[in-house]
Amino acid sequence: METSTEGGAVAPGSGPTPEAPAQEAAAQDAASAEAVTAAVAGVGPEAASRPAVPPSSLSPSRAGDFMRCPLLYRFRVIDRLPEKPSEAATRGTLVHAVLERLFDAPAAERTVPRARALLPEQWDRLREARPELAELFADDPDGERLARWLAEAERLVERWFTLEDPTRLEPAERELFLEAELDSGLRLRGIIDRVDVAPTGEVRIVDYKTGRAPRPEYAEDALFQMKFYALVVWRLKGVVPRRLQLVYLGSGDVLTYDPVPADLERVERRLLALWEAIRLATETGDWRPRPTKLCGWCDHQAHCPEFGGTPPPYPLPLGRSAEPAQGRMGAD
Ligand code: SF4
Repeated sequence: METSTEGGAVAPGSGPTPEAPAQEAAAQDAASAEAVTAAVAGVGPEAASRPAVPPSSLSPSRAGDFMRCPLLYRFRVIDRLPEKPSEAATRGTLVHAVLERLFDAPAAERTVPRARALLPEQWDRLREARPELAELFADDPDGERLARWLAEAERLVERWFTLEDPTRLEPAERELFLEAELDSGLRLRGIIDRVDVAPTGEVRIVDYKTGRAPRPEYAEDALFQMKFYALVVWRLKGVVPRRLQLVYLGSGDVLTYDPVPADLERVERRLLALWEAIRLATETGDWRPRPTKLCGWCDHQAHCPEFGGTPPPYPLPLGRSAEPAQGRMGAD
């Protein structure tokens, strides 16, 4: 396997990073959101008394939402409340796009100047695809904040070159969408930033994070997403990935983990328990808020009882259309 510079350990950081929501989120969860929303919102008069059905699929982002706060999961997956685009999430999306596109170039041309040149190009493309991003810098007529934001994105991209050498990497896959169905019927879905395959057939799964590496006590949480991906790969291809690698561009750290089947079986059991908990909450409507320090980054305080808000009616009224959540993008 082509190797890159690896820290191999969890570096000191500032705790769980409220990483920008994943760009995968909207696409990956559309099916599960639609399943739940159709059930609770109804698709016609005959659906009025139809019992709620649980989602049939889970992504790491949505599993993480439910573990963090069941009410947040409800707001995002069932109510599909809009969320404002954030600078951090959008920067994560931009940096991911640059790192993905850089591999379009021949190996020798995957240089820092080329990556820098990709930034404005990918930013234009992103704004074109997501016109709502214009509001991010609407109050910045002289462009100063935008310039600082782009400079920070550039620093993150440059830091990547101190952690990995793209001239020595030939990814087998970039932005790979995967979906696997477990024996229980639960479908797991995810988008993997990069997959490297060695001549020996060994697989390495790589994920870029634009935040800082977590403190060691939070490393397990950080690895959950990677083990989720590894489980999907194992179920689909029958191969346990040799290595899981998290590249933290915010702090310049690399966290690696070499999973064994028992790790992935544990993750599968955990996901099935989570799925059962989501099923119960869907049926009972008991979506409890779980306040933490991360509430500061939650867009839904106005609807959250912990902050004096009132959630939308549940089940959703008939005829209410479920709007796709906004701002569900960024680096997972
Ligand atoms: S504000 Fe906090 S407790 Fe309320 S929904 Fe958001 S994450 Fe949950």
